[in-house]
Amino acid sequence: MRDWVKDQIDRVVLDTDRPLIISDADEVLFQFVRGLEAFLETAGLYLDLSSFRLSGNIKNKTTNETYPIDDVPNLLAEFFAERTRHLEVVEGAQNVLNSLRGDAQIVVLTNVPAEQKADRVSALERNGLDFPVIANSGDKGPAAAYLATRVEAPIVFIDDIPPNLDSVKQHANHIHCVHFVSHPRLSELIEAMDFEHPRAKSWMELDKIIRDHLFD
Ligand SMILES: [Mg+2]
Repeated sequence: MRDWVKDQIDRVVLDTDRPLIISDADEVLFQFVRGLEAFLETAGLYLDLSSFRLSGNIKNKTTNETYPIDDVPNLLAEFFAERTRHLEVVEGAQNVLNSLRGDAQIVVLTNVPAEQKADRVSALERNGLDFPVIANSGDKGPAAAYLATRVEAPIVFIDDIPPNLDSVKQHANHIHCVHFVSHPRLSELIEAMDFEHPRAKSWMELDKIIRDHLFD
């Protein structure tokens, strides 16, 4: 884990005895794919959702040519710089998390570029999701495991990307990892693949899974 990630975690106020929810942001709290599609549209590009990946699936609307994979990181950096503030929140996230906050503590663990952390925080606040935010990079397991060392109550982790769930399980096996992809088509795509983690299809379903694990 990078020092700047560890520093952010050290600054989060956590209660040892309070159940913890660690939530991803993109495609869990925010409509990442919808926002990305709108951004790509302005650049004459589109996202081919025939498989679950970004690189190789960004294509030119006119020629249908694949956007050069080497240039995707720069394109995504541009997207985050321009759109992080404006992404729309996922239906149900605000209600469910605000009803859970009475009995649990909530932390957002997001792989947003460090430069856009402030934009992410303000977008969350604007949507009534004023929780501590940790801007991470790469694997999420080390950061989640480090957070977990500070809590002796049950912990749930939610993410849309299976390798992130795998990474958290690997580093802290006691964390209950739940898979949630808010975008309906992406969710269907991923459902066809066989993953070991429990899945939710909406924040209503997440609400039940979280409550069953944290409070029963
Ligand atoms: Mg995500």
